[in-house]
Amino acid sequence: MARKKIIAGNWKMNMTPSQAVKLVETLKPLVGNEGVDVVFCVPAIDIIPVLEAAKGSNIQVGAENMYFEEKGAYTGEISPAMLEEVGVKYVVLGHSERRQYFAETSETVNKKMLKAFEHGITPIMCCGETLEQREQGITMDWIRQQVKVGFQNVTADQAKTAVIAYEPIWAIGTGKTATTEQAQEVCAGIRACIAEIYDEATAAEIRIQYGGSVNAKTAPDLFAQADIDGGLVGGASLKEEFGQIVNYK
Ligand code: PEP
Repeated sequence: MARKKIIAGNWKMNMTPSQAVKLVETLKPLVGNEGVDVVFCVPAIDIIPVLEAAKGSNIQVGAENMYFEEKGAYTGEISPAMLEEVGVKYVVLGHSERRQYFAETSETVNKKMLKAFEHGITPIMCCGETLEQREQGITMDWIRQQVKVGFQNVTADQAKTAVIAYEPIWAIGTGKTATTEQAQEVCAGIRACIAEIYDEATAAEIRIQYGGSVNAKTAPDLFAQADIDGGLVGGASLKEEFGQIVNYK
């Protein structure tokens, strides 16, 4: 069975609630594509207005982060039950910005992965190397470690439904997209790693995105690669261009 493409916007810390509603109204008519899962991952305060504004469209709503405890004294955090109750279907976990600025580790990402599955929320687990790691020739070692720790105690049935976003850190927000060959090579390596942890059937089902300065020009070639099942899009998800990315062919 062919894997359905998944193209997700990561709004990061952009868009006040009123701006968010306007952006959804603008993008709604542009992102229709039955063949693709379209997800808007938005700041916590925008989740409810975006869910309302997206009603009747194909847009699914995701969060950009989530805590791994059910509830309690964790000031400033958002719980999986809170996301589940309002109808959030996806959550971005372990984005490199969270690893870099908020001390996120593969161990905390793993705890969040397990909680997301418990609540029926699909994790979009990010991984990716720095430029230094790429130059040192340890890209795949690093990413295999991120994937192996991130998926600890995740069952094969859960893993089949997960999404992994390969995002080379040097390509995020820099305008430098990885070449299609570089992106395909790592995404194939991630799929091989999943086959090692689980089996070929799980590896064949899990969806792997590429992220890092994806735009309307680069999307068609990237998404045509055998192991690239869509994209995680930052900057371009805030513009009408996102409609062209979703309708990349
Ligand atoms: C991202 O935020 O995940 C991302 C890939 O950003 P950009 O597309 O702006 O590089």
